[in-house]
Order: sequence, then C-alpha cells, then structure tokens
Amino acid sequence: MWFIIPAVIVSLIVHDTYFYWMHRLLHHPKLFKYTHLVHHKSVNPSPWASYSFHFFEAITEGAILLVIVMIIPMHGISIGLFVLIGFMINVYGHLGYEVTPKWFRNSFLFEISNTSTYHNLHHSKFKGNYSLYFRFWDKVMGTENPDYVKEYDRIQNQRFG
Ligand SMILES: [Zn+2]
Ligand SMILES: [Zn+2]
Repeated sequence: MWFIIPAVIVSLIVHDTYFYWMHRLLHHPKLFKYTHLVHHKSVNPSPWASYSFHFFEAITEGAILLVIVMIIPMHGISIGLFVLIGFMINVYGHLGYEVTPKWFRNSFLFEISNTSTYHNLHHSKFKGNYSLYFRFWDKVMGTENPDYVKEYDRIQNQRFG
C-alpha cells in the first residue's frame, strides 16, 4: 500500500521518458507525414487535440500502460491515478491558454515541469519541447525551445501585469 503514490510518480517519469523518445521518432521525416502529422494539424491546439492522433500513434501512446504494468508493481489505485493525472496534464498542455499562478515562475516546479506554453510552442514551431511532463529530457538533449522562458514571461506579464 505504501507504494501507491511512489508508483504514480515513477510511472510518470517512465512515461515521460517513453513519450520523449517515441515523440522524437515520430518527428523523423520518414514517419512524420504518415503518423504524427494528424496531431500537428492543431497549430494552436485546444483540449480536443489532446487525443487527436493517427491510429498508429494511438497504439504506441496507449502501449505505455503495458510497459508500466510490466516493469512497476502497480496497485489498481496507482493505475487509476496515473491515467487520471496523465489525462489532466495532457488536456492542460493543449489548453491554448496559460493558467499557472504567478508564484509558479519562481518555484522549482517551473524548472522541472512542462506548462501549456511549453507544449504550445511545440505545436507552433513543429520542433523542440518534445517532452510530456518534465523539462528533463529536452534540457539534457538540447531540444528545449530557446525562447520558451521569454515566451512564458511575456504571457504571464500580459496576465498579471
Ligand atoms: Zn510533435
Ligand atoms: Zn500535442
């Protein structure tokens, strides 16, 4: 029982790693137009884009659940929370609006996690910011959009003055 919450955290980290590399693969020119292009038809996405995928991508996206239950001892509650949190973050990433509070910018959460602005830049530029939950892989692999922080600040300044 004690592992219910840690299992969710570990599964989100595993999912982020899985998603980052799968996403980069789908951006390979030979695969992109046959698969991931469907998702990128939303240049300025809305929550409806969250699960707008090509059939092949939907299968590879969904396969994460199999990977997770095979490598992590997951309680049913952990699986439920993982799916729910993943769904909420996915919708937030495609919201088309930034909703993070002002304090978020100066917290460590800003340094480690994605925002709606983060994924929105991926959709508008078609490259960079490939990760799903955390900035880790984009930072390590040098794929983070260099204008991200500037763009985030511009939007938040508009919201909060
Ligand atoms: Zn993409
Ligand atoms: Zn997207």
